[in-house]
Amino acid sequence: MDVESGKDFLRQLVKDDVEKGVCAFPVTRFPPEPNGYLHIGHAKSVCLNFGIAEEMGGRCHMRFDDTNPAKEDQEYVDSILEDVRWLGFSWTGSVRYASDYFESLYQYAEELIQKGLAYICDLNAEEMRIFRGSLTQPGRDSSGRSRSVDENISLFRRMRCGEFAEGTYTLRARIDMASPNMNMRDPVLYRIRHAEHHQTGKRWCIYPSYDFTHPLSDALEGITHSICTLEFEDHRPLYDWLIGNLSTPANPHQYEFARLNLTCTLTSKRKLKQLVEQKVVEGWDDPRMPTLAGIRRRGVPPGAIRNFCKMIGVTRSDSVVDMAAFDYCVRQYLEQEAPRALAVLHPLKVVLTNWPENETQQLQVLRHPQRPELGERSMPFSKVLYIDQGDISEQPPKGWKRLIPGGEVRLRHAYVMRCDSVVHDTDGKIVELQCSVDLATLGANPEGRKVKGVIQWVSAAHAIPAEVRLYDRLFSAENPEAEGQDFLQAINPDSLQIVQALLEPALADLEPEQSVQFEREGYFVADRYEWKGARRLMNRVLGLRDSWGKEKS
Ligand code: ATP
Ligand code: MG
Repeated sequence: MDVESGKDFLRQLVKDDVEKGVCAFPVTRFPPEPNGYLHIGHAKSVCLNFGIAEEMGGRCHMRFDDTNPAKEDQEYVDSILEDVRWLGFSWTGSVRYASDYFESLYQYAEELIQKGLAYICDLNAEEMRIFRGSLTQPGRDSSGRSRSVDENISLFRRMRCGEFAEGTYTLRARIDMASPNMNMRDPVLYRIRHAEHHQTGKRWCIYPSYDFTHPLSDALEGITHSICTLEFEDHRPLYDWLIGNLSTPANPHQYEFARLNLTCTLTSKRKLKQLVEQKVVEGWDDPRMPTLAGIRRRGVPPGAIRNFCKMIGVTRSDSVVDMAAFDYCVRQYLEQEAPRALAVLHPLKVVLTNWPENETQQLQVLRHPQRPELGERSMPFSKVLYIDQGDISEQPPKGWKRLIPGGEVRLRHAYVMRCDSVVHDTDGKIVELQCSVDLATLGANPEGRKVKGVIQWVSAAHAIPAEVRLYDRLFSAENPEAEGQDFLQAINPDSLQIVQALLEPALADLEPEQSVQFEREGYFVADRYEWKGARRLMNRVLGLRDSWGKEKS
């Protein structure tokens, strides 16, 4: 696979079709069911469908597969549209809904009945399951299978009029009750549901099945390449059967690719919904969630997700991608994009005894060491500073390079500082350091001077207080969905730690959703909703290197 140019078997196939004149340009669609928020797995499908159209001068439709009113909601419709736009894609034409086609679908159903290819069945769900047989046993015909066309039409029309209760009748395709493919054993095409629909209101009380709706919606929209995940491979014969037997305006084809699975997370809307409903997380956009809304709130830029999708490529073999690969793409992206800043997450007061009382020095520092075009920021330096509690030790372990009583350390972008004395509280905890700076060391070590440790700091009088949320993985298990395991038991109990931090004042200008690298700490983002208001909230996107499973140093 040619990762560089993003080529894969599907892009190759579409390109060949265009070159052979099978179609003038590709028309694809992204067809989510609005029964939950999009997750990272969907991003793969979004990048694929919209990407192919974009790269090959084609079109991509945004279509909601909204055939199950009981589980769907306008909230999900809105969030899905927002997420697709956020990923950087736009669709051709207006937003489409399979429910826009309910009348056409109904007419196709009557066409099948007229052709003797569909019938009204009176079996209930349980009976139908038994009649369907098994992989080793052929199915049995239900009595409805031999009903006359006229009787079928009449019953179907009465179903539409609302004459029958839910579960009394279904419309089924008349294919082959002995087919080795269970999907071909007279699949259900319509069910009675006396439910209000988020798009069509109370207009319908019969709803088409996914398998019936999908190929016909594709045909009505002139989709050339209907791309879906591998679990639909066994549904393709039914897709082709419907397109082949009905007078559709186009003959779309279905192609499958492997879904994206990631370690340490879930990509099932049903389970994600459970996490929200049981309040394991704060909502669909909780920064620990693998939803696109959550990943966004966490501070991952859309460009990093697109790069990730490019990197993993598109194949037909199912596999599980290591979450470290995702993190790698995020770090690589932010390393380039995120300006640097100093922040102290666990503040410890430092008084510089040899610094004049009311003097502030403004240090000019590059925002990004490799990108001078991003300009400089001003870092005020004054008599009282804060450093991190973790950067001083009275019993330093072997190899310790940071501060010890009587020792020296460099304050990043500023002076070499010596710790002259340590102030403890009654419990023996360090509460303050009395230090002095060597004024000859600004920005560089004088000849022969060896100072190994470099630590971050902020000026007490100028720092911005912020609540910083240190997120970690939501699941501690490699595979939270492992067989025979309850995914709720795999929750990492330490997935969120909140600290009251102090940030360098240049960060006051940060816009919501802008990310920064706190030197030595990791990548952080100004919260999308709570950065500019009463409290300043920042989220940790991720650490500087992969510390998962390793001792934190
Ligand atoms: P879930 O299992 O989470 O409910 P779904 O497949 O039912 O997901 P849909 O809303 O039907 O969700 O998905 C919309 C599109 O996204 C489909 O074409 C589907 O194949 C694709 N998709 C869903 N999950 C993944 C995944 N993990 N990797 C790649 N594509 C996916
Ligand atoms: Mg689905």
